[in-house]
Order: sequence, then C-alpha cells, then structure tokens
Amino acid sequence: MNRRTLLKSGGTALLGLGLGGCRPAGPPRVSPVRPARPRLNLAPVHVSWDRVIRTTVGLRPHRDGGFVLRTDKLDDKVLVHNYGHGGAGMSLAWGCGTLVGDLVQPAGRRRVAVIGCGSPGLTTARQLQRRGYDVTIYAAAVPPDTTSNMSWAGYTPTSGLILPERRTPEWDAQFRSAAEVSYRQLQLMVGPRYGVYWIDSYNATDDPNPRPGGGGDSDLVPEHLRTGQDREVLGPGEHPFPTRYAIRQSNLAIEPSIYLDALVQDFQAFGGRIVIKRFESRRDLAALPEPVIVNCTGLGSFSLFEDEELVPVKGQLTFLVPQPEVNYRASAQLPDNSNASINPRRDGIVVGNSQERGVWSLEPNEEIRRRNVDNAIAFFSRMEPPAAGARLTRSEAPRVAPAVESFFDWGDTAVAPRRSIAS
Ligand SMILES: Cc1cc2nc3c(=O)[nH]c(=O)nc-3n(C[C@H](O)[C@H](O)[C@H](O)COP(=O)(O)OP(=O)(O)OC[C@H]3O[C@@H](n4cnc5c(N)ncnc54)[C@H](O)[C@@H]3O)c2cc1C
Repeated sequence: MNRRTLLKSGGTALLGLGLGGCRPAGPPRVSPVRPARPRLNLAPVHVSWDRVIRTTVGLRPHRDGGFVLRTDKLDDKVLVHNYGHGGAGMSLAWGCGTLVGDLVQPAGRRRVAVIGCGSPGLTTARQLQRRGYDVTIYAAAVPPDTTSNMSWAGYTPTSGLILPERRTPEWDAQFRSAAEVSYRQLQLMVGPRYGVYWIDSYNATDDPNPRPGGGGDSDLVPEHLRTGQDREVLGPGEHPFPTRYAIRQSNLAIEPSIYLDALVQDFQAFGGRIVIKRFESRRDLAALPEPVIVNCTGLGSFSLFEDEELVPVKGQLTFLVPQPEVNYRASAQLPDNSNASINPRRDGIVVGNSQERGVWSLEPNEEIRRRNVDNAIAFFSRMEPPAAGARLTRSEAPRVAPAVESFFDWGDTAVAPRRSIAS
C-alpha cells in the first residue's frame, strides 16, 4: 500500500478535503465536503456486557526465528518438523503441508504418522493423502480443543511470524511458497461446508495514510506488488463509523469450528485414522510403527523436542451473541492507542484480541477482557444506524483480485492491515 494506491482509491475524498502535506494553514479553502458516494448501510452491532457468551484463550506457537520446516532423523525413522507458525498457523498451513510432502517424498515410504490435529496437522495430513500416503494422526487433543480452534482466523500470513533480522533466503522462499499455496487453497474452500468466506473489513480512522516506514516484512515482496489493489478509502459521509475515514479491504475469513471439523471429516473420509495419544518424549515417538513422522505439535515441541526458542503468545477472544446480519469486520484505534474490533462469526461476534508474549496461562485475563468489551461498547455504540428502510450493505467477494501480497500487512490482533511480521 503506497501513496499511489491511496490516491487511486481514495483520491476524490482526499482532494475534496485538501488533506495531507499540501493543506495550507488556516481555514480550508475548499467548500464543505459532500459525500461522493451514498453512505454504507452497515448493520449495527449490538455490544453490551449482557450479550457476552464466552471468552476463549489460545497460545500462539511463536519463534523469533520463524516456523520450522525441515527434515531430521529419529533413530531409523524420517522425522519432518512443521511447527512454530505463530499468529499465522491458520493462514499458512496448506502451503506448509505441501512443503512437508516434498520433504517426505525422498524417503519413499507410504505410511506416515502426523503428530498433532490442529490446522497444521490436519492440512499436512490431507496434503499427504492427496499424494497417496497412508496417514495416521496421533494427537493429545483434537478439535474443538486445539489452539487452532481458539484462533481469530483471518488470512494473516505474516502475523507474529518471525523477527526481521532472523529471516534467511531459504526461510523467505518457504514462506512465500506456503503463503501462495494456502491462499489458493482457501479460495477453493469458500462456502458453508468449510466455513471459509470473503468478508469486507473496515479500519475506521482519522488518518487514511498508510503508516510510514512499514515493518519487517516490507521487503518480502517488491514495492510495486504491494498495491493492496482492492483497498478503498471511504470519506466523511460515506460510512457509518465515528471517524473521518474508513478503509475497506477484503479478507478471507475462516470459522475455525466449522473448518477444522470439516478437515477431520475429509481426513477420515479418505481413510485416515485418528489416535488420541500424548507423547512424553522422543522415545515414545520412536516406538510408532510408521517409518515417517511429521511433527505438527506446535507449542508441544517446546518439551517434546526441547525447542526453547518456542514462546507462547497468549491470545484472548471474547464472544457476543451471534448477529447473522452483521457480516463485516471493523476495527479502530482509540485515543489511548488500544483497539476496538469486531469479527462476526456463526458462533458469535468476536470482540478484541490480544498478544501476551511469554504467558503460558490458559486462564482469561480479566483486565484484557474488560478492555476489549468496554472499547467495543465505546466505539461501536457511536456508529450511525442504517437509514430507515434502506437495504443493508453486504460483504461480497472483492471487486478486483487481491494479490497474495496485499494480505502480508494483516495481523491477527486487529482487522486493520498493518505491517508486522514480528510479534
Ligand atoms: C487468539 C488467536 C488468534 C489467532 N488468529 C489467527 C489468524 O487470524 N490467522 C492465523 O493464521 N492464525 C491465527 N492464530 C494462530 C493459529 O491459531 C496458530 O498458529 C495455530 O492454531 C497453531 O496450530 P498448532 O498446530 O501449532 O497448534 P494446535 O492447533 O494446538 O495443534 C497442536 C496439536 O499437537 C498436539 N500435541 C502437542 N503436543 C503433543 C504431544 N506431546 N503429544 C501428542 N500431541 C501433542 C495437540 O494436542 C494438538 O492436536 C491465532 C491464534 C490465537 C490464539
């Protein structure tokens, strides 16, 4: 996203306001702004404490050095690691599963044990089945009790993934490939069966200019590709939010409970078996009958493989009673720099999100819960209701095809695109 894009997509509104560096001091010379386009009629979201139905906690498996995707040995077995996806394990899983397939192939063995039944484990198992492998999943926990079920679950391929200084050309190549394969796969899954769909996301703001400087991922792709082609700046009067602007972009959304259950069903329909089992040590793993083992244990690799670079990044979501008519995401930064956000799903309206690095507790943090709900009440209660009798604006598939790079700014703590590949 750059100035050229901003001018392309939001030019009318910005020129009308005389915003930016060109604005002279003193009263504006332009006439009062008239909305260029009719105001969006977004369904009001009802946020109040008596609508709260639950709070969930998950621990993102973060590594400063990024996810681990490589071959190892365990006695006479081939061991392939695929873990440490931070805040991007829902987004990158299909692509990482393909890369696992490439690593498993030279072993020439057909029976594979996948350890772990979250998003990385299930997608890896499916990618291996598609190549004809006989796969068994072994896991201590299965959906709905995995970290993946606790995900906010947008297509956020760079979120909380790696420290910029730890990137290598080899890791970048794996990331790039995983992001592209996953983007394509998720597009194919759009629909109620998998709970994947396109959704409009609004970032309500008084400053529509992208943050200068960018973050650690800004050189992952050439600048000319980072166009955010479907980014649209809505000016005053064109949106219902209590800010001057709202930036609209499309994102791919995943409903974790629908999606993960469907993956389990697919895996079993293609002959896969699931065994509930906790492994305490490598020795336990070595006793498995399969000659090839794929490690998709996420944070479990901290003790199982003594990977002390793994660190939990605790994330907490609070859910309100579902509102099927609300079918857009929205977020805003409040004056105290905290966020207000909503993410509507079939299982409830998610308010807020959080990142607490190094916290292993699965207990909800009451202070964060209060802040998330209070912020959402404060912000969304100030939205303008739709005009009486007007048709509600509905999310739709993007008008122009977003390149995979346009999702590289998205973080899982807010719906607004941002530049961050580090947590
Ligand atoms: C609040 C929140 C918001 C998020 N938002 C997003 C987002 O918007 N987009 C995105 O892409 N990602 C997001 N994520 C991140 C995503 O959820 C994770 O990257 C992903 O779920 C990690 O999957 P995993 O396989 O590592 O862990 P899990 O889903 O927990 O799977 C690990 C599996 O390994 C098994 N296991 C572990 N240890 C052992 C053992 N010793 N023996 C046997 N089995 C074992 C577990 O039982 C489990 O089955 C979010 C996460 C959170 C918490």
